Amino acid sequence: MPLTVPTDSMTAFEAVTWFFNQGAAHLNLRDETMDLMRHSWRELTVSVPVRLDNGQLKVFVGYRVQHNGARGPYKGGVRYHPNADLDEVRALASLMTWKTALANIPFGGAKGGVVCDPMQLSSPELNRLTRRYTQNIAHILGPNRDIPATDLGTDGQTMAWMMDAYGQLHGYTPSIVTGKPVELGGSYGREAAPGRGLVYCLEEWASLTGYRLAGAKVVIQGFGQVGSWAARLIGTLGCVVIGISDVRRGIYNPAGLDIQRVFEHSRREGSVMGFPGADSVGVQEFLELPCDILVPAAVEKVIRSDNAGRIKARIVLEAANHPTTPAADTALAERGITVVPDILVNAGGVIVSYFEWAQNIQEFRWEEERVNKELERIMKQATREVVAMAQQERITLRQAAFAIGIQRVARAIELRGFV
Ligand code: NAD
Repeated sequence: MPLTVPTDSMTAFEAVTWFFNQGAAHLNLRDETMDLMRHSWRELTVSVPVRLDNGQLKVFVGYRVQHNGARGPYKGGVRYHPNADLDEVRALASLMTWKTALANIPFGGAKGGVVCDPMQLSSPELNRLTRRYTQNIAHILGPNRDIPATDLGTDGQTMAWMMDAYGQLHGYTPSIVTGKPVELGGSYGREAAPGRGLVYCLEEWASLTGYRLAGAKVVIQGFGQVGSWAARLIGTLGCVVIGISDVRRGIYNPAGLDIQRVFEHSRREGSVMGFPGADSVGVQEFLELPCDILVPAAVEKVIRSDNAGRIKARIVLEAANHPTTPAADTALAERGITVVPDILVNAGGVIVSYFEWAQNIQEFRWEEERVNKELERIMKQATREVVAMAQQERITLRQAAFAIGIQRVARAIELRGFV
């Protein structure tokens, strides 16, 4: 199959399609099956009118994209972000399809978004916005149809409001969303799950490849749900976190940062900026700091062809979704830098979402120890499969991860008789 030369100007969906084509090139699939997997199965755009606290009515735009449901109900987060658009939501929905398949959990892929800046809205405004968005997409949701979750700009409170809004239409249904507060049926361990899953993935990858983790220096971009948990847990492998950033600024101390103190500082001050005993670094230069392992855990497309040549890490662990453009991915591979792809590294979030959904359906709560143990089993299994395929086929970890996911979705499509 012809592959175009990647550029940074590709849209998010073009970029994910490029990764998809690269993975699928290692499989022998029918054209019809490929066609079915390339397109979203359903895309919904809704108006979300909200009465602001000042009395004015503001109409926001919301999306829900159901990319592929061959392997189970659609599953994916909802983001509140000023730059959310249909192309980005479509791209993230398709990443969910390959991620759930790679983790081998019984879900398809979806994503939602509302174009808004949650930092500029009060809590009552966010409550009203969430309820109206949920009402307007409720006809395509359901515990056996589509199950939203948290993502950038949304949290447990957002999920509680979504669950309540859906419940007003259909009765009490905790299994309609995941990432809920524990008091409302959320799972123990869900909040830490993407960060914890990253640590299990890194541990397994290092043991399979003989990489020495003790003393490895780590730089983490993003100190939200994913980045802060990754920072707090990665030390258990003997790694030392020397840099952390958020949207405002980065902090750097080559001797290592005291993560608990950074966490407390960030909670108190609203940013890691100004943390005592560390140098302050601009967000652009931050990714180019000298380190062994770089963890982008914030937003998309932060590693592009214009900075890929200056990345000093030997390993990029993609905790965020789509942090590396295809052009940068190629440039990093040419420099011998190992990129462990997003659909593997951050799968811990959707894996524990699956446990939450299963617990809600069974009306039976698991202890946190069980959640973490099952998460470890699935993350390490997926990591072993990706490394084995990459070694066998002499391809990158991303190509292998996509190929495994695509193969499973293709098999489900054919078994179900879609083609
Ligand atoms: P979050 O909103 O909790 O945190 C985001 C962090 O990134 C914050 O520290 C913010 O200050 C920082 N940030 C935002 N814009 C930035 C920029 N331009 N430069 C540098 N830092 C910036 O979000 P999260 O839930 O931690 O999600 C982070 C990434 O991980 C996203 O790509 C998301 O899709 C992905 N992800 C999240 C989950 C989950 O369960 N939360 C699961 C899998 C993947």
